[in-house]
Amino acid sequence: MNDAPAGAPISPGSATGAAQGPVTGIRRLLRRLRDIMARPGTAQERLDRIVGIVAAEMVAEVCSAYVLRAGEVLELFATVGLRPEAVHRTRLYVGEGLVGVIAATQRPLALADAQQHPDFAYRPETGEEPFHSLMGVPVLRGGRVLGVLVVQNRTLRHYTEEEIEVAQTIAMVVAELVASGDLVNPLEMAQSRGGALLPVRLDGITLNPGLAIAPAVLHQPRLAIRQVVAEDVAVELIRLKQAMAAMQQAIDELVATSHRLGAGEHREIIEAYRMFAADRGWADRIAEAVRTGLTAEAAVERVSAENRTRMARVADPYLRERLFDLDDLANRLQRFLSGAAPDGAALEMPGEFILVAHAMGPAELLDYAHRQIRGLVLEEGSPTAHVAIVARAFDIPVVGRVQDATDRIEAGDIVVVDGDRARVLIRPSEDIHQTVSAAIEARKERRTFYGTLRDIPAVTRDGVAVSLLLNAGLLIDVAQLAATGAEGIGLFRTEIPLLTRDAFPDVADQTEFYRRAYEQADGKPIVFRTLDIGGDKMLPYLTHDPEDNPAMGWRAIRIGLDRPAMLRQQLRALVRAGGGRDLRVKFPMIAEVAELERARELLDTELSRAAAEGRPAPVSLKIGVMLEVPSLLWQLPALFERIDFLSVGTNDLAQFLYACDRGNPRLAERYELLSAPMLALFRQLIAACRAAEMPLSICGEMAGNPIEAMVLIALGFRTLSVATTAIGPVKAMVRSLDAGALALYLDEIGGRPDHSLRLRLESYARDHEVAL
Ligand code: PEP
Ligand code: MG
Repeated sequence: MNDAPAGAPISPGSATGAAQGPVTGIRRLLRRLRDIMARPGTAQERLDRIVGIVAAEMVAEVCSAYVLRAGEVLELFATVGLRPEAVHRTRLYVGEGLVGVIAATQRPLALADAQQHPDFAYRPETGEEPFHSLMGVPVLRGGRVLGVLVVQNRTLRHYTEEEIEVAQTIAMVVAELVASGDLVNPLEMAQSRGGALLPVRLDGITLNPGLAIAPAVLHQPRLAIRQVVAEDVAVELIRLKQAMAAMQQAIDELVATSHRLGAGEHREIIEAYRMFAADRGWADRIAEAVRTGLTAEAAVERVSAENRTRMARVADPYLRERLFDLDDLANRLQRFLSGAAPDGAALEMPGEFILVAHAMGPAELLDYAHRQIRGLVLEEGSPTAHVAIVARAFDIPVVGRVQDATDRIEAGDIVVVDGDRARVLIRPSEDIHQTVSAAIEARKERRTFYGTLRDIPAVTRDGVAVSLLLNAGLLIDVAQLAATGAEGIGLFRTEIPLLTRDAFPDVADQTEFYRRAYEQADGKPIVFRTLDIGGDKMLPYLTHDPEDNPAMGWRAIRIGLDRPAMLRQQLRALVRAGGGRDLRVKFPMIAEVAELERARELLDTELSRAAAEGRPAPVSLKIGVMLEVPSLLWQLPALFERIDFLSVGTNDLAQFLYACDRGNPRLAERYELLSAPMLALFRQLIAACRAAEMPLSICGEMAGNPIEAMVLIALGFRTLSVATTAIGPVKAMVRSLDAGALALYLDEIGGRPDHSLRLRLESYARDHEVAL
C-alpha cells in the first residue's frame, strides 16, 4: 500500500486505527457522509464525493459505485481511481463479472487476487489492470439489490472482516441515495423492479404441486430502513432502549400466553427469547453500532447483516436455527422501532397472496388458511413434513428449500409458485404472467375433466378394481368426499384439528366433532386414526421436553399409552360418536404387538363403559394399525390375530426403513421409494396379507402420486388413501393402466440394485400410454 491516498484509515487493523479506535473512525466517516447528504448538490455530485471519501478512508486506490438500471444492468456511476470516461459507459449484467456476482448473490466478496477469479470480467475502458485486490459489497435496501460498492488496491491486499463491515455500512448510505430516485429516475427503478430483479427464478423442491400467482406476503416481513445516519446519537440510544423494552415485554407476554401460539413458533420464540436474554452481546452490539452514528434501525440492520454472514458459515443446523432466531428477533425489534404491527400475520393482506417464510409448522399454516392464501414459499421443508400435508388439504402449491426467499422476495412482489416444477418466479414479466395465468386456467379445465371421472369406478384396463379413499384432517376434507367421488376416508388424522386449539378439547367437544365428521361423510366409511402428536405436530398445551430426534421420540401411541387419560378420552368420544354407526379405528406408530394390546384394552374399557351407560354400540367395529415402524413386519402372524385391517404409512415407514429423517430437507431426495428395498418389502407384505386374508391399504403420501400409485397397484395394493387433489389424477392413471402387464415388467426390473427405477417406470408409462 505504498502509494495509498492519504487519510486516516478506519479499520482497527490499519495504521492509525489502534490509536483512534474503530468506533471513532466509523463515527467520523458517518458524520462526513451525513454532511455530504445534507449539503446542496445533485445526487451524482453526492455519489462522487462519497466514493472519494471512501477511497481515502479505506486506503484504497479505487472506489467505485455501480447502480442497477432497467434490464438487470449494473452501470458504473461514480469512481475514484478507474478512468473517468468509463463512468456511465461500463455496464455489467447482474451475474456477470465480480460486480455482477456480488449483486446476484447479495453477498460481499473480498479477493486478494481478483483477476485470478473465474468470474473476473475485464473491462478495458476502466483501466483496472494494475489493481489486483478487490472488495465489494451489495447496496441493499429492503432485501433488494440497488447496486454494488467496490474498492480495489494494487497490492494483494487481504481485506479484513471489519473493513467489509465498514463497506456494508457505507453501502447503506449509498442505498439511501439511490432510493431517493435522483440518480436513476423512479420510473426506470420501478421498471427494473417489475422487470427482472434477480434472480428472476429461484429453484427449490416440490412440497405440494400446483401453480399460483399472486402478490407476496412475508410471514415476518423485513422493513426497509428510511434513515441510516443518526441526527442525534443520544436520541437513537433512547429509542433503541425503549423498543428493546417494548419487545421484551411483548415476548414475555407471548411466552406467558403461549397456548395461543402454534407449536413450532411457540418453541422457537421461547428458545430465541432465552438466547436473547442470555446474549447481552446482541443488545450491546446494536448499541455500539448506534454509537458509531447510525440510527437505531440501521444499527439493528448492521448487526443482522453480520449475523447473516455468520449464519452462512455455520454448518451445524441447530446453531443455524438459533442464529435465525436472532435474525427473527431483529425483525421484531425493527417493527417495534418503526411502530408497525409486531405480528406479521396480523398485517393487512392483499385479497389473494403467496406466503413467503423461512420455515413453518402445520399450525402456523392453519393460521393463514382461512385467508386467501394461494401458494407458499419456504426456505426449508420436506415433502412429508406436516406443513406440506396441511397445504395439500387446502390445495396450496408449495415450493420448499428456496434459498434466501425471504431476502429476495419483498412484500407486494408478484410471485409465481410453480409447485410442479419446484420453482418460484419473482416479478415475472408480462408474457410469463400471461403464460402462468393460461396454465392455471388449463389446470382448472383438467380439474373439470377429473370431475367427470367422479362417478366412474376406478378400474384398470385389465379389470382390477381399486378403492380410492381420502386422507383427511379437517372437516373440509370430509366435505370433499362428494366432490371427488372417493369411497370414504381411509385416514382421518385426528390430531390436525387440535393443532389450532387453545386447550385439549373435552370428551363432549371431541364427540361432537367426530359426529360432524360422520354426518359430512354421509354414510361413507371413515377410518379414524388416534392422535399422532409429537414429531412435528406439537400441541402447545402439552408439555413436552425438547428431543434430539422427535420423529423417533415420544409421539403417537407412545404418548397415548404413557398418558392414557388423553387416549381414553379420545376413544370414549369415538365410541360415543360411532354409536349406531360403523366404527373404524387405527393406531399410529405401533412398533410391537404388546402396544396394540394395551391400546385395545383401553378401547374395550370404553366400549364396556358405553354399554353400561346405555349408549348405543357401534353397528360394527374394525380395528387396525398403521404399519410405520418396520419392526412390525416380523410380528405379522401375531398382529393379524388381533386386527381387522392393516394400513401402510409410507411417510414414516420410509424414514425408519432408510434411517432418513422425513423432515430433514437435506435428505428429502436422498432415497427413492421406487427402488428394490421398498418394492421387496411391499411384495412380502402383500403376500402375507393375501395368505391371511387381511385387508391391506396404503395411506402415505406415496399413494397419491400417480407414478407411485401405478407401481403400488401393479404390486397388489387395492385400497389407496390419498389427498383430495390426488383422487382425480390417480383415478385417471388407474383407468389407463394394464396392472397385469406392469406386474410382469416389475418382475423383470424390481430387483435391480439401482438407486431409482423411476426413469424406467416413467418410460414404461409413456410407452404404454398410462396417464401420469
Ligand atoms: C405416514 O406416516 O405415512 C402417515 C400416513 O402418517 P403421518 O404422515 O400422519 O405421520
Ligand atoms: Mg405416520
